[in-house]
Parts: sequence; structure tokens; C-alpha cells
Amino acid sequence: MQTVPTIKSRPVYSPVEIDQAVQQHLFIAEEGAFPTLSDLYQDCEGEKSCWIVGQESADKLPKGCHFIDAQSFEEAFGELFAKLPISSNLYIAGIREAFVWDIHKLAIQAGLAPEQIKKLQPLSNERRLFCTHCYTLTEGVTYTPFECPGCKRLLLVRDHFSRLHSAYVGVQINAEDPNDIPPKEELS
Ligand SMILES: [Zn+2]
Repeated sequence: MQTVPTIKSRPVYSPVEIDQAVQQHLFIAEEGAFPTLSDLYQDCEGEKSCWIVGQESADKLPKGCHFIDAQSFEEAFGELFAKLPISSNLYIAGIREAFVWDIHKLAIQAGLAPEQIKKLQPLSNERRLFCTHCYTLTEGVTYTPFECPGCKRLLLVRDHFSRLHSAYVGVQINAEDPNDIPPKEELS
């Protein structure tokens, strides 16, 4: 049985800067999101490494960058995070917000403190949606209301974010009258 997620409001992303006093810097980007980290990576004068999650591409990447595929990053990052020195910062850039928070969760599980994890504003409005009725998780949701593929209920995509699932919470919008179909709106 799944536990009910902790409900928190929408994440806020503050500007990220490099703290040169930190001993080790680890940069992680979802494929296609490295350009948002690029300046920070170049400015960082300390010991640093960078991982791109996705298919190896012909994109020009600076020295010290590695590719890792989406199937194996959980285990690899779990080990990598556990070996980081106490004085370390992690920088995460994603196309999808769910990616950023999946990595955040791995880092917390490995013992990093929240203030060591620097998250950049995700590039797309795609949300992972958590259905509060049947617990189905759906990736890439960009509009509301959205029909849950699990229980077929029409869900209002709320701004409340579950850090447990890296997902936004969806509740049935027309519970009283399932024939009442409100117009679709694009999510911000
Ligand atoms: Zn559902």
C-alpha cells in the first residue's frame, strides 16, 4: 500500500551561485538542460565533475562531463553521493521538474543536507501528476483538468507538490457530476 504523500506547496527556485569555499562541486543535468548549468560550471574554480543523464550525443561538453543513461543513474548517483566529502555542493538542472526532485530525493537519502542541493528552475512546464484516488503517477502533464489513465477520473492539477513522489497532486474536479467537463487550461 502506498502512503499518502506529504502535501507542500509549489517549489520556489532561488538564483544559484557557486560557493568557492566548498571543496567539491557535483553538477547533474537532464539531457538538454546542461546549457542552464554551463556558466556555473565554467565559473566554478574548485574540484568539480558533471553528469548528463540521457543519451550520449554529439553536443560539445566541457572536460570532466560524463553521460549516464536514465536506467542506471539511481544506483550510480546513490553511490556517488554517499562518497562525497562533507564540504560538497550539488547542482541540478532539468527539463522536467520531476527529474530535479528525483535527484534531490536521492541526495537526501544519501545524507546530503537540503542546503547543499542547489536546484535550477526547470525548463518545461511538464508536471508529474499523482492521482489521490488511485495513486497512479503520470509523466509530462501540461494541462488541467487531466484524465487519470489509472481510474479515468478527471483531475484538477493542483499547485500542491508532493516531494515524496516529485509530483503534483490531482483531485477529481467533477465528483458531483462526472458529465461536467470544464475547459482545459495550460499549466504554467
Ligand atoms: Zn486515478
